[in-house]
Amino acid sequence: MIQKLEGLKTTLWSGLAVSIVIVATLATQEYWIKNIHFIEQVLLGVFVVGILFSAQFTRSRFTLLISLCFCYYLVSKNILQGQSFLDENPQWLYLSTLFILAYLTLIKDRAIVSIHGLVRIFGIASCIVIAKLWLMSMEWLKSYVLETQITLVDVELLVINLPLFMVALLVLFKSLRQPNLFVASLLTTLIVGNLYFNDQVSLPISIMFSLLVVHYIIVVVIDSYYLAYRDELTHLPSRRALNQYSLSLGRKYCVAMLDIDHFKKFNDNYGHDIGDQVLKLVAAKLAEIKSGGRVFRYGGEEFTAIFPRKTANEALDELEKLRKSVADYDIVIRHPIRKTKKSRQGNQSDALKTVSVTISIGVATREPKNTFEQTIKQADQALYKAKKKGRNQVCQ
Ligand code: GH3
Ligand code: MG
Ligand code: MG
Repeated sequence: MIQKLEGLKTTLWSGLAVSIVIVATLATQEYWIKNIHFIEQVLLGVFVVGILFSAQFTRSRFTLLISLCFCYYLVSKNILQGQSFLDENPQWLYLSTLFILAYLTLIKDRAIVSIHGLVRIFGIASCIVIAKLWLMSMEWLKSYVLETQITLVDVELLVINLPLFMVALLVLFKSLRQPNLFVASLLTTLIVGNLYFNDQVSLPISIMFSLLVVHYIIVVVIDSYYLAYRDELTHLPSRRALNQYSLSLGRKYCVAMLDIDHFKKFNDNYGHDIGDQVLKLVAAKLAEIKSGGRVFRYGGEEFTAIFPRKTANEALDELEKLRKSVADYDIVIRHPIRKTKKSRQGNQSDALKTVSVTISIGVATREPKNTFEQTIKQADQALYKAKKKGRNQVCQ
């Protein structure tokens, strides 16, 4: 089935990690408060590192977010002017932050020093203006309600709660929809920020920002790691990860090469997009590998499974199970129906269809003195044998 809540795991892990850190900080806050001067000095550096680091990795949304936190922090510490203005307009500040978080959820990362950077700054300025317009319209509504004495709506409740509800819903939806560490960290920022705003978390602002900015930097590091070592389509470890992993293997291991049968024909029949969907679902099946095996996307419709401390004979059962589980897998895909004049008027352009594919597997044990590359080559030869023998089978 096509997965709808692919981001659930990322969101839960991210939320759990941040909750643990906040609870641990609250539990040890005496220690941190004692060292507050040191934290305040280090924090200035952490802000600068966060901004430069995220810009370097083209994570412009983090660059913008950390820059805004930095500005707010400088104002709250009276290093920049404006504290009295912020004190007089707490609702405007709160709503602007809320709308900016929503805006950051919707945009993509682009180079900050470019026309996109300007567009994003304009977008942020628009959020601040919209927040003001919202407050003005609520003022107008309040006076209207007073005049007409309608008691059905409590405008005071609507001012903050309605935008908060909408933005929370948007960020939550985006976060659950796709695994995205940035959106997950926006969600935790929203939750933590709200707890802080409502005095439910009583930490000094410098400690709060230290936690947030360090959290953003860690997310940039993890995200960049995933970008380099995870395959974007299947989310399996990539070939680069395979090469890295091969360095940690001992003397005894076996390598299996897995290849989807007649996948070119499949693409020709159903189109490349559906081919991608199927590749993703087959990869998810392969990721369920047991007996200590690890699967990587080698490239195209080819995968590699490594079994450390096992010979090909010892891995055979597991590979056979894997082959069978793919062959028995009824894959449900959305299949676009060729539009006729009639169906174009309705919206039934997709139909669910069940398809299946098979895989061939070649496996080889590492022989003494052979390198990893040579073992891969042997597994490839075994795969060729499996294809020649009629596909949908495992060969040694
Ligand atoms: P065989 O059984 O001999 O393996 O036949 P095959 O058609 O699977 O093998 P071949 O190597 O001739 O073709 C591989 C095809 O896999 C070509 C390409 O269309 C498809 N393919 C490779 N990578 C992707 C991908 O990322 N997405 C999609 N949709 N198709 C891919
Ligand atoms: Mg191939
Ligand atoms: Mg193939």
